Amino acid sequence: MARRRQIYEGKAKVLFEGPEPGTLVQYFKDDTSAFSNKKKGTITGKGVLNNRISEYLMLRIGEMGIPTHFVRRLNMREQLVREVEIIPLEIVVRNVAAGSLAQRFGLTEGTPLPRCIVEHYFKSDTLDDPLVSEEHITAFGWATPQDLDEIMSLTLRINDFLSGLFLGIGLRLVDFRVEFGRLYTNDDMQIVLADEISPDNCRLWDIKTGERMDKDRFRRDLGNVEEAYQEVARRLGILPEGGPRDMKGPATMQ
Ligand code: UDP
Repeated sequence: MARRRQIYEGKAKVLFEGPEPGTLVQYFKDDTSAFSNKKKGTITGKGVLNNRISEYLMLRIGEMGIPTHFVRRLNMREQLVREVEIIPLEIVVRNVAAGSLAQRFGLTEGTPLPRCIVEHYFKSDTLDDPLVSEEHITAFGWATPQDLDEIMSLTLRINDFLSGLFLGIGLRLVDFRVEFGRLYTNDDMQIVLADEISPDNCRLWDIKTGERMDKDRFRRDLGNVEEAYQEVARRLGILPEGGPRDMKGPATMQ
């Protein structure tokens, strides 16, 4: 099969031109990075697991009426998605103090927040994704006030839904990051959930033991990173039958 045209290569994923106009193929790598790319590594089988986990979560979120870019999973490491115009914001939702929020306000990690807090970061590797306010976003034209209202409403629904879903499998959704894109159809524009939802962009703590089941295991050298991602997939009931050790990748990538 002919190699497809690569559109973009990020830290954990590659985007290829899709088979039909308006589609892209999202390929999940095992590569990982943290602290603005200062720490890099590989988590064996992560791409396979995140492809599955993100497929599962995007489908469930879609079923509750939230539009997403996800179309269907193609193989172990690839999924077909709709091409959207990415809004250059990382939307972070926090239910419990952790990571940069705990640091910024001197809070002990694990302190429940009085209510969930939604933050916006400007997507820019060169600037290290700075925290921005609505003022910056609308003044610089990254999103309109209407876009932001829609993003906030979708984000809060996603948080409620995912918090319950993870609670059901013994995991606390401490915080997570989402991205949205604009999907244009004829004269219409719709804001849809894009990118991925996986332990790469969520903090998930075991309810009973408090154990971290996410990328913090890599960031903080806690060990058993693959096992944690695998356990999340297992609890969701979607562990790939052949196991996640797909080192070859799909035929089109070789
Ligand atoms: N996050 C992410 N990508 C980023 C920054 C953060 O997916 O570039 C996620 C991260 O996994 C966590 C949440 O957003 O679930 C909040 O991250 P935080 O701001 O605490 O930053 P971190 O401590 O991860 O640097």
